[in-house]
Amino acid sequence: MIHEGSAFIEAAPEENQDEKGGAFYNKVQVVNRDLSILVVQTYIRTISSCRDASSTKHEIHVLEALGATGLRSVRYFHEISGITRIICNDMSPSAVALMKKNFLQNNIPEKSIIANCDDANTLMRRLSRSIRDPVIAHLNPASEDMLQSGKPGTYSIPLQAQKMHVVDIDPYGSASPFLSSAIACTAEGGLLCVTCTDSAVLCGKYPETCHSKYGSLSLKNCSFNHEMGLRILLAAIERAANLQGRYCRPLLSAKIDFYFRVFVQLFTKPIQVKRSCTKMSYILQCSQCSHFQLLPVALAQKHKGLHTKDASASECHQPPVGTNGEEYLCSPDMPSSPNFAVSTPRLSRNSIFGWQKVTDNFTRENDDEIDQNKWCPSCSSCSYTLGGPIYNQSINDVDFIKSCSETLKNVENTETSEKKMVLGARDRVDALLINLMQELTDVPLYHSIPRMCSDLRYSVPPFGKLIDAIHRLGFQCSRSHCNIDAIKTNTPSPVLYAILRSFFEPHESVEDRSCCSYGKLTSGKLPHIQVSQLRKNIWEVNQSSACHNEAPKKHVRYLPNPEPNWGPKARTKM
Ligand SMILES: [Zn+2]
Repeated sequence: MIHEGSAFIEAAPEENQDEKGGAFYNKVQVVNRDLSILVVQTYIRTISSCRDASSTKHEIHVLEALGATGLRSVRYFHEISGITRIICNDMSPSAVALMKKNFLQNNIPEKSIIANCDDANTLMRRLSRSIRDPVIAHLNPASEDMLQSGKPGTYSIPLQAQKMHVVDIDPYGSASPFLSSAIACTAEGGLLCVTCTDSAVLCGKYPETCHSKYGSLSLKNCSFNHEMGLRILLAAIERAANLQGRYCRPLLSAKIDFYFRVFVQLFTKPIQVKRSCTKMSYILQCSQCSHFQLLPVALAQKHKGLHTKDASASECHQPPVGTNGEEYLCSPDMPSSPNFAVSTPRLSRNSIFGWQKVTDNFTRENDDEIDQNKWCPSCSSCSYTLGGPIYNQSINDVDFIKSCSETLKNVENTETSEKKMVLGARDRVDALLINLMQELTDVPLYHSIPRMCSDLRYSVPPFGKLIDAIHRLGFQCSRSHCNIDAIKTNTPSPVLYAILRSFFEPHESVEDRSCCSYGKLTSGKLPHIQVSQLRKNIWEVNQSSACHNEAPKKHVRYLPNPEPNWGPKARTKM
């Protein structure tokens, strides 16, 4: 018997996975389940408070499509308030028998959790059908009544024509085979929760597999691999939603241990679906240094001759993050739309490989001085690797994560009548939420500082000092929850290299460095940055005049793994 949260669960022993349908207990995913309980509870509270205004009572139907032991469903039922009904599905009959036993042992009232044995995609397609669908009408003798009353889900034949408000996909490996049907059965504004444990594929170890499963090429050996994986997964979800006339709004996206977990809301709105191409960017990664640049697949442009005060329209005019929209011109023959036009980028050497004037301190060299054969603004190399497309919008909704944090703080204060969360991994979940809230939301990907320093053959400067120095120059900067050694910043990479150089020079000898990439990073004509001047301006300033001080650390930012050999378990044998 296994105890987690509020649940006592019987599962197949790990070394004996073939028995009982391979429904074994995965201890490592306790953070995933704790986080999910927190997010689903916060989501239900948020949409309930929106709906209270209309004073109609709404039901919340939850689907766990790949249920295994039923542990997650038991915990959802006992620890989350406001759930009407849970469907817990598994395609293995023995797993379903086991989960039924577990529901009994955990005092689940009859019909509160429905144990169902189906292929997950078959079930989700059936749920997604309309009650007006001829097949459903044929199968369901009560469908005439349902059509009369206009109410789906009377369950005369259960588990069909019933959209779900929360759909949880937690497979071993990739979630890609389930995305389409999961999106189809998610209600308007509903919450889709997706786990992917095939990190190696999403993080760049197998780019071709990544393309076949997710439709994007992951980059090998890039320093931002974890966030790239998250953004490739979100791009895949967005495209799968687009095929059904829908789009997604990410609420919380995280790389945890060895897996990815994302929570997105799904909506149907044609004008937003048309805009989805502007939410995708290719990645251009310099093959010789840490410079990278995002290249949007398309740009949202102000529609010429149209004047509107519509707030949503002005939002559409903003270029995607990480790009300079002014570099691109609207192509003349774009089909018009009420609020904006989508244009494909007109590419020029400058728009791709040049870097923009960002502050008064840094300017781009004159165009004719740029060597035609040198592309990278940091090291002047002339080769890039292309990856993506990735999702280029914000992947975390800070307001929503703040609400989650509030929910977590109030766990102890919940009334006795309410259901109570029992979070064994509470400290790790808390640390994750704090990290996510502090991340820059409008700067995709990140730089690995040790890697940039090793490009320069330098050691790593103190992180706090580096962040202060970047802020002093007027750039944005934060850490990343994915990588303890990374910073997210809108600082152009040549400036970032110059900042790092200025910390060590001129105190350290620069001889004997011409053999490595350092030589290229310092001898190129681009850009004109006075390292000695930079040193005076950002490192040798009085500490009291610092414009930014990192807040004293109240929380442990990165918690060590709870036990040795903390890692993924082998795939279930079916
Ligand atoms: Zn380079």
